[in-house]
Amino acid sequence: MSLTVVKKAAVLIIFLQTVHLVLWYSSVKGKPRAMYEQNGNISVNICPLIPQGLVGKINVEKSNTDWLKIESKYTMVSNGSHHPENCSARHKVAILVPFRDRESHLRIFLNHMHAFLMKQQLEYAIYVVELDKDIPFNRGFLFNVGFMEATKDKEFGCFVFHDVDLLPLNDQNLYQCPDQPRHMSVAIDKYKFKLLYDENFGGVSSMSKDHFKTINGYSNLFFGWGGEDDDLFNRIVSNKMIITRILSNIASYTMLPHIHASENPLRYEVLTTGKNESTQNKDGLSNLKYHVTEKIYRKLFVHIKVTINKADAIDQLKSRIKESSKLQKLFNLSNSTFKKKLRKHTRSRIKQNKF
Ligand code: UDP
Ligand code: MN
Repeated sequence: MSLTVVKKAAVLIIFLQTVHLVLWYSSVKGKPRAMYEQNGNISVNICPLIPQGLVGKINVEKSNTDWLKIESKYTMVSNGSHHPENCSARHKVAILVPFRDRESHLRIFLNHMHAFLMKQQLEYAIYVVELDKDIPFNRGFLFNVGFMEATKDKEFGCFVFHDVDLLPLNDQNLYQCPDQPRHMSVAIDKYKFKLLYDENFGGVSSMSKDHFKTINGYSNLFFGWGGEDDDLFNRIVSNKMIITRILSNIASYTMLPHIHASENPLRYEVLTTGKNESTQNKDGLSNLKYHVTEKIYRKLFVHIKVTINKADAIDQLKSRIKESSKLQKLFNLSNSTFKKKLRKHTRSRIKQNKF
């Protein structure tokens, strides 16, 4: 090979490499180098592992601002969702919020949470799930519905189960799903920033889609206040998962004041009878029945209004409890309505004194 051929080949190689470099540079220009990761041959602009600009302790604006003000503040939010503009989010997270009659809390919550979640560079959406007034409140059931409805909308990999009255006080409390279920509201001001008990999985918690499906979601049978979070803890244990928590100074929350909701008189019985795996497999996502009366994609949240067949719910509960009078009271039914609501086989079981 003569020297000129070698020279020409070398010049060509240098030229091609320069073109390649120029093309690559123009595609990544203006974006921080650290955000780039090699995905096969394509450079994908993935958000950093730890979001930049987190500061730790943050303020909570609790003054009662009106909807218009909050909406105009979040011009970049639509359909209750947002994703980072400069990079592709590592996590697709659905925030599920059970709701009834706490409008002022909801406004404060949305005002706080959108800024908080945006800063964490998540692709997220907030779902507010509301149960028909005619049915006693049921937090677990509403989370199950939120899970199903959010899943219909997008391939969310992570779900945060969030009370409307709890607001995170530290932006380093990352709203992601680690490899085990996470209890997030470790330290709440109302409880002097102390965890009430080790098995606590209430308030705010997160789970991956796969884990939530594995445990069959929440029980649908906790009507009124209490029990559903402890039942979820039992499901996690049954499936040999563990609960994780981060340091309490980061996992800290403030709770907006409210009147204590009326307790579910059946909660201990439903909790005890729900401890075995076969019951857990029958009560949850697997037998979830509901009717969406409205699913509205509002600007700051997706609003889902849902109802269930009362007779169905009563019937299912019947198979788990002994004292039907408590059930009758819980559903606020007169004797005659209560009897009418029962299915045939339930009636015959009552006749046989099986309750
Ligand atoms: N909730 C609601 N309206 C009610 C009862 C409960 O919106 O009448 C929702 C709300 O998201 C609330 C959560 O369910 O934060 C848990 O209920 P609550 O705050 O009464 O429980 P506690 O703080 O007493 O454990
Ligand atoms: Mn509360």
